Amino acid sequence: MLITFDLDGVLQSNPFGRGVFPEVCGKIGAKLVETEGQEPKTASQLVMQMIRDEAKRRLLAGDYVGAYDWDDIICTVAEAVGSPARFDIEQLVIKYCTSEYISSYPYAASTLTELSARGIKLAVVTNGFYKYQNPVMTSLGLRHFFDEFITPEMVGTVKPYAAIYKAAVKGEYALHLHVGDTIIHDVWGAHQAGFEPVWVLRKLPKALDALQPWERPTRPEVESLIQKSFASDLCSEAYPEAKPEECRPEYVIKDLSELLAVVEYAKRKAA
Ligand SMILES: [Mg+2]
Repeated sequence: MLITFDLDGVLQSNPFGRGVFPEVCGKIGAKLVETEGQEPKTASQLVMQMIRDEAKRRLLAGDYVGAYDWDDIICTVAEAVGSPARFDIEQLVIKYCTSEYISSYPYAASTLTELSARGIKLAVVTNGFYKYQNPVMTSLGLRHFFDEFITPEMVGTVKPYAAIYKAAVKGEYALHLHVGDTIIHDVWGAHQAGFEPVWVLRKLPKALDALQPWERPTRPEVESLIQKSFASDLCSEAYPEAKPEECRPEYVIKDLSELLAVVEYAKRKAA
């Protein structure tokens, strides 16, 4: 069995939201404070919006890998604002790899340890560039679980496209599971690539909480959660072939500890 993992929101919380982006936006925003008399907070928010818009613009233009190149996106925004500030984002990520800014999700280490002990092959499939993700996983003590660590700049494509999933398959496996939290990238995309998607949904409605991970996907409550998740994607228009009704998780888990039961069930089902 091969299990691929999404990172952000599944195994790790990265330092971009709380460390990297606030620093970058504050420094670039200083230009707007100086030239346009903006309040520092407003200027910073404007820069963050410009960063998001630039990422979105790249997705819509089909520059999928470039949409995750934060060094280049941030440089583009700094130039647009007329700011002289320049950044080495990898170095900023490393600087913010402290317990104040990054964390692993509950049961991450224990679940990966148990899955490895059962002889299951574990791989990473993330849309974060290796230089941004590797320091976080290393700092959290989770890096050593993965031989294959597949990222967009390595393979020239991104989730939700099948090729990035297929790049993680080195060898023959009876079963392929993918664990992720983003409905288009991790559920629709994994399904397209022939993986059974395990959707991580941390805030489960009460009615679903007591059910098994394989009993949840067909429940009507999941339907609206899929719709909601689909609508909240940064740029679902970038993937016109993805439709909410085709986003079908095979399993829904509320935390990583439930993955062990999923593995046993998937094996029984396949036998
Ligand atoms: Mg994620």
